[in-house]
Formats: sequence, structure tokens, C-alpha cells
Amino acid sequence: MSAEIIDGKMIAARVRSDVARDVEAFAEEFGEARPRLATILVGDDPASAVYVSGKQKACREVGMEGFNFPLPADAPREDVVELVERLNADTEVSGILLQLPLPDHLDGPALTGMIDPRKDVDGLTAVSAGLLALGREGLRPCTPSGVMTLLDAAGSQLEGAEAVVVGRSNLFGKPMAQLLLGANATVTMCHSRTRDLAGVCRRADVLIAAVGRAQMIKADWVKPGATVIDVGMNRTEAGLVGDVDFDAVKEIAAAITPVPGGVGPMTIAFLLRNTLQAARMQRSVHEAAR
Ligand code: NAP
Repeated sequence: MSAEIIDGKMIAARVRSDVARDVEAFAEEFGEARPRLATILVGDDPASAVYVSGKQKACREVGMEGFNFPLPADAPREDVVELVERLNADTEVSGILLQLPLPDHLDGPALTGMIDPRKDVDGLTAVSAGLLALGREGLRPCTPSGVMTLLDAAGSQLEGAEAVVVGRSNLFGKPMAQLLLGANATVTMCHSRTRDLAGVCRRADVLIAAVGRAQMIKADWVKPGATVIDVGMNRTEAGLVGDVDFDAVKEIAAAITPVPGGVGPMTIAFLLRNTLQAARMQRSVHEAAR
């Protein structure tokens, strides 16, 4: 029997509409103040410019405000630091996103690390990663949070389940593993040095691939009845494909995400949710200080 296709586009639209509703409630509660997302775009990489304008547009669609702060490609480190510090101090700014990758002379993770953790809507600072590891409240990385919502929508039972995450990036794999652990799954993380990767994947009730290798996960790597989440985005001559051999795996799995239309749309939806959460966190600090 063919797997249920997890419709990320539809689920992301639901998340966005919940955010839009909650933004209206926020504005009503706080005298029309709206959550504000500041994006920083250094240089003129066309793909990054498209991502940033997509994020700004998404903000407006849910009733939030978005501002982009462009810097030239040769901006010295001091200028980026100064901008981040200015936005950190600006009480009108709820969330800050430094669009990566940065030009070669700038250290992306180090500069991201300067964002106030209460405004870290990408959830990528060391403080946010630490709060996640400790199971404490904080802003979580957008794509892994989106995957948790997809798993929930697919009715995946995580408690006690074997979950295997292939890929250990700071952006996705590590926080994904932490969120699964927090949901009481038994988590295995795989990477390029993992022995018998196919065998490890075959143990998974929930298999999550974030490698960046087109169609690497084959049907005989998948346990019958597993839920398979494909985070990979690989541009090939055949178009955009994931890390999973979708056509073959869907005949084995119980549920699977497509590429495109699976995990991808969840990332921006959770960026919006994080921006609202950041705005609420700052409001409560503000109220407590009064
Ligand atoms: P990344 O930083 O590119 O790292 C890739 C990971 O895959 C590394 O941990 C690497 O292992 C592992 N790996 C590479 N070759 C492998 C192999 N043959 N067997 C097992 N593991 C292997 O990862 P990323 O940034 O998380 O991106 C991964 C993919 O997800 C990309 O296609 C990216 O475009 C996509 N992505 C999509 C979204 C979205 O949909 N919004 C968000 C994030 C990422 P080592 O650590 O040992 O090198």
C-alpha cells in the first residue's frame, strides 16, 4: 500500500493562519503594537535576496511588520556588529535574522551568536541551543520545529519510538535530535562516518534525512510502516529532489513528505511563529520591569 503523503504546504498554511489570528490578539492586547522582524542581508547574492524578501512578505501576510537592513558585500565586520547591537537594543524590534551565508570575510555563526537570544528567531545562537539541550523554554530552530508539527499531523507516536536522524548540522540535525529526545523518542544520529548506515536507518520508526545528497535513502533502507521525513533540497537536472528515493520509499513507508511541498514550507511558517513568540517574551520582560 502506498504511504500517506504528508502535505507540508497545507499544514504550513494552517500554522500561518494560526499565527495571523494570534498576531491580531497580540495587537489588541498591546495597543496595536505588532511583532516586528528585522532581517539583515549582507551583499547581493540573488538567492539570499529572494529568501529575505519572501520572509518579509510572509510577515506582512500575517499582520506583522518586517524591515530589511541591507549592507554592502564588502561591509566590514564592525558594521555588522554595530547593526546587530543596534537592533538588539531597539525595543521596537521583536526578532532579528541574519541571512546566511555571509560573504567569505565574515564569520556567520560568530555574528549570529551576537543576536540577543530573546530575539534569535532562527534559534541558532549558543544560548538558544543550550536552552533546547536543557529542555528549557527558548526559541527553537525553525525547520526542526516544523518537522515536529509534521510528525504530529501524521499521527506519529514518538514516545519510545526509534528515531534516526541522518545529518548532524547545527542548523538542523542536532536540534532535530534534541526535539525528538524531548518527545521521548530513542534517538540515533547518523553522519558521514556512520557504519552500516542502511542498517541503522532500517531500525527507524521515524526516519529523518537531512544530508544534501539526491535520493540517497533507498527503499531497502526503510522499515515497512515507518514515517519518513525528507529535509533534503537538491537541485538536479530533473528539478528539486530530496534525499529520499521518494517513488520507491512511498511503497514501503506508512507516511512520507514530498519534495517540494513537504518540510520546505514549514520553515517560514515557524519563523513567523518564533517572531510572535519573541515579541511575547519581550513584552513579558517589559511588563515585569514596570
Ligand atoms: P549540512 O551542513 O549540509 O551537513 C550535511 C550532513 O550530512 C553532515 O552532518 C554530513 O556528515 C552528513 N552526510 C554527508 N554525506 C553523508 C553520507 N554519505 N552519509 C551520511 N551522512 C552524510 O546539513 P544541513 O544544512 O542540515 O542540510 C542538509 C540538507 O537539508 C540540504 O539539502 C539542505 O538544503 C536541506 N535543508 C532544508 C531546509 C528546509 O527545507 N527549509 C532547512 C535546512 C536544510 P558529517 O557531519 O560527518 O560531514
